[in-house]
Amino acid sequence: MIKLTEIVSEKLFCYSCASEELILKYKHSVWFEFKCPLCGQEIKALTLPDSYFWVIFKETEGILKNSISKAEDIILKIIEELEKKEGYASEEKIMELMMEKGYPVDSVREILFELRERGEIYSPKKNKFKMVRMWGD
Ligand SMILES: [Zn+2]
Repeated sequence: MIKLTEIVSEKLFCYSCASEELILKYKHSVWFEFKCPLCGQEIKALTLPDSYFWVIFKETEGILKNSISKAEDIILKIIEELEKKEGYASEEKIMELMMEKGYPVDSVREILFELRERGEIYSPKKNKFKMVRMWGD
């Protein structure tokens, strides 16, 4: 389980080295993911409309090898649920749901790639995923 500590701050900064110059890597609605150019730390943060504050999420535990299979299970469950509701799972929605759970975007992308390589999911359209099903499943 990844634990996140919330840091509320007026300034955006790297919690590993205190640098205030961060590179924006990814943005989805109120969610931002930055990378620190000095130490390489990836930082997830959100800012709410009408707010002067950032909420920076500090990971107290990263994705460890043995929790990757757990992350895979969560992704598969998300894809299954989205497929039931919308006919497919969009990468955007998977990212959003996984980020809410504290998983970094790069790891989620890697896992999606892995799952495709292993034939557990397939992509009928760009950035859309479906579960691969065997006859009789
Ligand atoms: Zn840093």
